[in-house]
Amino acid sequence: MRNRISREKKTIEEMIKLYCNKNHGTKKGNLCYKCELLLDYTHLRIDKCPFLPDKPTCKNCTIHCYTKNYKEDIKKVMKYSGPRMMKTFPILTIHHLIDGILDKKRIENFNQRTQGNKK
Ligand SMILES: [Zn+2]
Repeated sequence: MRNRISREKKTIEEMIKLYCNKNHGTKKGNLCYKCELLLDYTHLRIDKCPFLPDKPTCKNCTIHCYTKNYKEDIKKVMKYSGPRMMKTFPILTIHHLIDGILDKKRIENFNQRTQGNKK
């Protein structure tokens, strides 16, 4: 469980790095100030996710907790880095894809839990 959360953080971190290095001219493994803030923000959102401990991957989440500005930024990152991740980090990406496939069940469970509490 903990592994899955840290894997998602790692996946996001690598995606932002890929994007920043190519689009903001930063050196490999480094981030510009703006992308550093974006990364902090994404990690904070993961830590505060209402689905925890059984959090789905952000891509499949039904809540979309990002504020507008960060949402635009992360969309750009996903669009650029998404297709490149498989080549650069195949194992990480495969794990992340499997997590995505298991999400349907997680979201169902969450809905059942929360509906049980309401009314
Ligand atoms: Zn950047």
